[in-house]
Amino acid sequence: QAKEQGRNQVQIFDAGMNLQTQIQIKKTTELRIALEQGQMELHYQPQFCLRDGSLVGVEALVRWNKPGIGLVYPGDFIPLAETTGIIVPMGKWVLKEACHQLSAWRQAGFNNIRMAVNLSARQLRQPSLASDIAGILQQQEMNADMLELEITESMLMEDMNTAITTMSELNQLGIHLAIDDFGTGYSSLAYLKNFPVRRLKIDKSFVQDLTADTEDTAIISAIINLAHNMGIAVIAEGIENEAQLEYLRQLNCDEGQGYFLARPMPAADMDKLLQESCPLVEKDQ
Ligand code: C2E
Ligand code: MG
Ligand code: MG
Ligand code: MG
Repeated sequence: QAKEQGRNQVQIFDAGMNLQTQIQIKKTTELRIALEQGQMELHYQPQFCLRDGSLVGVEALVRWNKPGIGLVYPGDFIPLAETTGIIVPMGKWVLKEACHQLSAWRQAGFNNIRMAVNLSARQLRQPSLASDIAGILQQQEMNADMLELEITESMLMEDMNTAITTMSELNQLGIHLAIDDFGTGYSSLAYLKNFPVRRLKIDKSFVQDLTADTEDTAIISAIINLAHNMGIAVIAEGIENEAQLEYLRQLNCDEGQGYFLARPMPAADMDKLLQESCPLVEKDQ
């Protein structure tokens, strides 16, 4: 019902409706209009190879550029987008925009980078997901392996059967998957053999205490070794200082991402970064 009202951009607040519900409807309408009016934008955070410092990919992170307010971060609107279903058209927009941007970068000569896009649980349950993505790839003349989809552990466990079906469809397209926030959920590598997983993303909570906490070091070390034995690459997220970076290098972590290396940035700033020499290499000098 609230959904319909949002779509028609009409808000009828009857007297009995509590304030919470009214706010919810208002926010839902706002978010729907934001998407329709092009207020969403993507920022990109670079991902680096920890061995040679090269820029290997970017993760697309959605922001809402709210008129008169400024940037609103996903934590403040993704949950509502999830519960209302707005995440489905929004996620489709994100995929299109990210693939379009990657094509532009590749055409500019930066053809060794991949694009990582976050998927929501709701998107994973859409039967049309794989064919939607196939259409986008075709439109952008993109190879499937240039796209990486990030899915959290808990999303896989929630609805294992649907996840397996959708993911094998995605796999048939040649798309690879990364398990996001790894270590915060079941942290079982056993189920990974059921999925075409290319990469694990170690959650930033483990990276945060890396130098101080020997247990986190042991956990990360075990995850990296086990993943490598299964032919799965590992990327660490949330690298905020040089000590963390050094530890991860010593532990043989393949790739890294974090404020210390580069913050998420608008496409125009990413253009500049791509044209500069690699920031990791510069830091070493
Ligand atoms: P995530 O996929 O785990 O993304 C990593 C988050 O950590 C991002 O926050 C990023 O800006 C932040 N981050 C990066 N480096 C550092 C660091 O060194 N330190 C710290 N403390 N944080 C760092 P952001 O952009 O606010 O996104 C939050 C979450 O929202 C994402 O977590 C992802 O789950 C979700 N999200 C973002 N964009 C999308 C999207 O397009 N679709 C969907 N479904 N979810 C999205
Ligand atoms: Mg992610
Ligand atoms: Mg993550
Ligand atoms: Mg995270």
